[in-house]
Amino acid sequence: MKTGFTRRDFLKLAGTMTATAALPEYFTQIFAAGLERMAATTRVVWLQGQSCSGESISLLNSVDPSPADLLTRYISLVIHQNIGAAQGQTFMDTLKKAAQTNDYLLVIEGAIPLKMPQACMIAGRPFETTVLELIPNAKAILAVGTCASFGGIPAADGNDTGSVGVKEFMEHHNLRWQNKLVNCPSCPTHPVSIVGTLAYLATGQYPEVHKELLAPRMYYQYSTHDHCPRYHDFERKIFAEHFGQPEGCLFKLGCLGPLTSTECPNRQWNSGVNWCIRAAAPCIGCSWPGFCRDKEFPLYRIGETAHSVTYTEKDRSGGKI
Ligand code: SF4
Ligand code: SF4
Repeated sequence: MKTGFTRRDFLKLAGTMTATAALPEYFTQIFAAGLERMAATTRVVWLQGQSCSGESISLLNSVDPSPADLLTRYISLVIHQNIGAAQGQTFMDTLKKAAQTNDYLLVIEGAIPLKMPQACMIAGRPFETTVLELIPNAKAILAVGTCASFGGIPAADGNDTGSVGVKEFMEHHNLRWQNKLVNCPSCPTHPVSIVGTLAYLATGQYPEVHKELLAPRMYYQYSTHDHCPRYHDFERKIFAEHFGQPEGCLFKLGCLGPLTSTECPNRQWNSGVNWCIRAAAPCIGCSWPGFCRDKEFPLYRIGETAHSVTYTEKDRSGGKI
């Protein structure tokens, strides 16, 4: 594919991606090589299962590069149910063709209903069948969003469809996920994490991942709490008493920051415009494996006793004791 980009363009974008995530300088070279490969040869097959399309919308909120550049010049997105050009039989033919090659990255958004395959169908076939056809030849698999990573909302208490995340799905089918699958949880996942992880995988390398989350450490190494601008209030035990209060740690309003690994404090959202805690709303733990799994999970709550999880002292301190 002719992209019209020069090596300098790739380096420039890679430099921005490195700087916005406050990563060491050597990531620039890795991202540049991956971006170049994604634009020229490596194709991306993006499937949506039990999802709300949140990750796709988040990707379209990418600012640098713009969504148009991202989708038409940086990423060879051969399949996407919402934004791909192929529809109907053409879509199925493209899917079949993709499965026969072995130079694609497979992105899965949403959970997979193991116990009730008919709960999620593509062209009259269970989503599970399509996923099973595409996993073997994929160079790498990116489970994007909390539902694809851990089951998320579709797998909440009750879970009649038997929804699972991609790792559990692969384990169920005795498929190797080690060094092949990467999770990028969050609800939704930040566009920079999606593009950066895809670029990394396009180089043919497997990133260093967080042991429990299977998420790239470059984006999920620290908790919201670790870099929270209200951390000094937490330390001094100054707590906000109501939502919207411009000062004070939000822990007693149910903040799940200590349990949640993200880049939010550094990168924020909508190109650095704002993020939950700056808007004086607690972190609701959207990239935490337990996010919304309990049927009693309240997104917002008042008072420490109404907290949706029981913290240990270690959790409270962000794992520092
Ligand atoms: S508990 Fe929440 S608001 Fe308080 S310091 Fe931690 S992340 Fe910030
Ligand atoms: S601050 Fe917490 S709830 Fe908000 S986007 Fe980040 S991880 Fe999700």
